Amino acid sequence: MSGGPPPCPSTPEVFAGIDIGGTTTQVVLCTADLTVVGGSEVPTPAARGGGAMVGTALDVLRRLLDEAGFRLAGVGVGAAGVVDARAGRVLVASDSFHDWAGFPVTATVEGALGVPAFLDNDVNAFLRGEATKGAVAGVSHVLGMTLGTGVGGALWVDGTLLEGPHGAAGEIGHIPGFGDLPCTCGGRGHLETLASGRSIGARYAERTGRHRTAREVAEAAVRDDADAVAVFEAAGTAVARALLVTAGLMDVTTAVIGGGVSRAWPLLAPLIRAALAAEPPVSGHPIRLVRARLGSRAVAVGAASRARGELGAAVPGRA
Ligand SMILES: [Zn+2]
Repeated sequence: MSGGPPPCPSTPEVFAGIDIGGTTTQVVLCTADLTVVGGSEVPTPAARGGGAMVGTALDVLRRLLDEAGFRLAGVGVGAAGVVDARAGRVLVASDSFHDWAGFPVTATVEGALGVPAFLDNDVNAFLRGEATKGAVAGVSHVLGMTLGTGVGGALWVDGTLLEGPHGAAGEIGHIPGFGDLPCTCGGRGHLETLASGRSIGARYAERTGRHRTAREVAEAAVRDDADAVAVFEAAGTAVARALLVTAGLMDVTTAVIGGGVSRAWPLLAPLIRAALAAEPPVSGHPIRLVRARLGSRAVAVGAASRARGELGAAVPGRA
């Protein structure tokens, strides 16, 4: 319902998180302690360009704000691809997005809503979400990994996201040393060639001639299909090796894993843990492996967390 009085200063303040993914867009409203107080999910109009994608998210956000009567303090956006987090622009996007690379995301959001906006790569936002309100809340040194269509990675060091000079710190999916298979990025032998959902299906098809989704391969592995088991063993061993390399370089204590492939956690986790146990880190401290907890909302909650973190110091009385 519209036409009510304008929000007064005592109206509860919220931070919005927007996750613009290849197929769906998630919008959440979070209080200052990142409790989700509203949310909605709509299809992403990826073929209609950046203006339509951001416009769709803004429509959802305005509706949520109208319904709940909250006062918006700021907006965080998580987007797939390579982003310039400082300039708030998408730099490189996959082919499934039309007119998205170069799109000024934060300027568009700020112009429409009149509040500050911030942009993160989606995997960085995923880890922000899990490290502030999810499975690794309170842990200071974490590798975040998403096993989805591709493999994404991000690093949480000393309780903050490590971005790197190109926003690419922790991009574990595209480091070499995992065989010689061609990767979607144009490289060879990357972790993604063994551990992404798309790769799990492709590796199974190479062995058997049968085309299956990663989920179907996981179901076959549970039924003791030897080829499916071998494909998942290769994925688990590769993920463990990536964790061990990261632990050796960064002394992370914990790895949090999300993405569609992690739905096969009862199958995948023991395979990763077995490989980790065979080669313990030189520190002598084993790596703790945990499953992501925020599910499909992790990126949006993490994006809201970025906005809260950026704006927190500017608002009196907020921790
Ligand atoms: Zn690659």
